[in-house]
Amino acid sequence: MPYPFVPERFPAALPPLRDGVDRVRHRVAIVGAGPVGYCVAIGLAVQGIDSVLIEADDSVCAGSRAICISRRSLEILDRLGALPGFLATGLPWTGGRSFYRDREVLRFTMPNDANQRLPPMLNLAQYHIEQILLERVREFGDRIDLRWQTRLTGIEPRADGVRARLATPLGDYALEADWLVATDGGRSVVRESLGLALAGTSYEGRYVIVDVALRSGRPTERLAFFDPPCNPGSTVLVHKQPQDVWRIDYQLRRDEDAEAAVRPENVLPRVESLLAMIGETADWAPIWISLYRANALTLERYRHGHVLFAGDAAHLVPIFGVRGANSGIDDADNLAWKLAAVLHGLATERLLDTYSEERVAAAKENLRQGAKSTEFMAPPSFAFEWMRTAVLGLAVRHESVRSLINPRQTLPIAYADSALSRAVESSADFVAGPAPGSVLSEAPLGPRASSLRGAGARDAYLTQLLGDHFTLLHFSKGGALPADLGGLDAEMRGLGIRWRTVVIDPATDEATAMLAARYDAARGASYLVRPDGHVLARWRRCTAQDVRLAVARVLDRIGAQGGSG
Ligand SMILES: Cc1cc2nc3c(=O)[nH]c(=O)nc-3n(C[C@H](O)[C@H](O)[C@H](O)COP(=O)(O)OP(=O)(O)OC[C@H]3O[C@@H](n4cnc5c(N)ncnc54)[C@H](O)[C@@H]3O)c2cc1C
Repeated sequence: MPYPFVPERFPAALPPLRDGVDRVRHRVAIVGAGPVGYCVAIGLAVQGIDSVLIEADDSVCAGSRAICISRRSLEILDRLGALPGFLATGLPWTGGRSFYRDREVLRFTMPNDANQRLPPMLNLAQYHIEQILLERVREFGDRIDLRWQTRLTGIEPRADGVRARLATPLGDYALEADWLVATDGGRSVVRESLGLALAGTSYEGRYVIVDVALRSGRPTERLAFFDPPCNPGSTVLVHKQPQDVWRIDYQLRRDEDAEAAVRPENVLPRVESLLAMIGETADWAPIWISLYRANALTLERYRHGHVLFAGDAAHLVPIFGVRGANSGIDDADNLAWKLAAVLHGLATERLLDTYSEERVAAAKENLRQGAKSTEFMAPPSFAFEWMRTAVLGLAVRHESVRSLINPRQTLPIAYADSALSRAVESSADFVAGPAPGSVLSEAPLGPRASSLRGAGARDAYLTQLLGDHFTLLHFSKGGALPADLGGLDAEMRGLGIRWRTVVIDPATDEATAMLAARYDAARGASYLVRPDGHVLARWRRCTAQDVRLAVARVLDRIGAQGGSG
């Protein structure tokens, strides 16, 4: 049975060539139109930078890959102008249940409260993710030159850019670009071409990934079954996807033959007995079967001269904890504004080293968490298995142990130690609110949001104040903005720096009072936020000169170590 989604197929095309080389020298070439490549292209376009996006296939991806998109990713996708499609298609969820044999041992809820505008997690298949992003790409017209059926076969790095060799069914050609972003996935040809290798851990445990068509009124939640009666000794995960598609992942025993394990005659009885166990009796049909093995690997640096790595080309994160596509979307968000600032002549290339520094640190945290999840979901040794059995057994009776089973869902990662967070001196006396390097914690702006100076008619939540710009959030009783801060909007825009100042009066209503309390800003304060939503600095009292200096330090990285390989 096919998926209820039929992808559009796109033809190959050749650009005008001179001596086998694309006549146009591009500012940015992005290799790989997966979720991350799309987000880089859209992020650059939003910042006014054109790119060429090279894709080997003739359509969005096929089969079952990412399905869980986090709130942080949704916030980024909102800034990229792609959120409506995600909310219209995806299934939001807030928690799940875990079972040991036939007993429920955990009911968990992801961080969620009345301050949020977006669900903690949204389920939709990766082909939907890519299709929605593709539609957004199309809205930019010629700004994003998407070339289907164009496979990168190698690159030659140069001092001022990169030459890429491309193969298409219509013939081969070369293309030159000032910068090349490698988003060509786990088997990156760019990585191989530069002789780079991912380092880390590859796990032995194997999972069968099965998508089935099944009509069911069951709610969207994550179900995990450890050693279930339907598949003793295994771990089974169940997720609902849109359009009556269900994803079932189950672990293979160590002695099982992988090739035989994915044959329908071996898969279907296991799925049937799982569905029977959970009381699903309606007709169902398999759509997709594949095998998955977890990797926890990363490059040590994501900038190599004029080549920048993002997404699976840069790191491979185990699927348990859903950090693969989600962390790649965060890479794209971090990279796009920095690369745009360099290309607009606002920042030195050294800003791109902070992309590498921040996202490698994030990848290492994701790998750490992903490794812990993997060790629990697919114990790599007898010792891990023994420990897991002990925890699950105890969890049946002891509530205090249950937190150990709680899956590590992806959370926004703070860049607390990054050169950018350290480059600017913040006031040290804040007792609440996001510290430099952290992302803004969400808050409603209240019924009078549109009366806040600098807010727009559709800004109902704090993260909606963000965009393709730096944002200065100034909290002040009475809504007054000191004269010198009032001139910053015009001054920054005059320099070509995208900017927005918003004044929040804590006395406006209950919502702004709560927001100010959560940001320790009831007595007044200013938060300077980067275009990717991370706090750059915060001050109890600041002058325009403090802000100017902070921005100059970021764009020029004054005082930080420069250079890259
Ligand atoms: C079973 C499974 C479940 C997963 N579940 C989740 C989840 O729930 N949440 C989550 O966040 N992540 C999940 N992931 C991980 C997620 O799928 C990946 O992290 C994500 O696809 C990475 O996106 P990317 O754009 O970096 O790479 P890819 O999606 O791999 O895209 C790379 C693109 O580059 C193209 N390409 C490759 N080589 C070339 C070349 N030489 N020239 C031109 N184009 C090229 C490819 O055709 C492809 O379109 C899951 C993965 C698997 C396998």
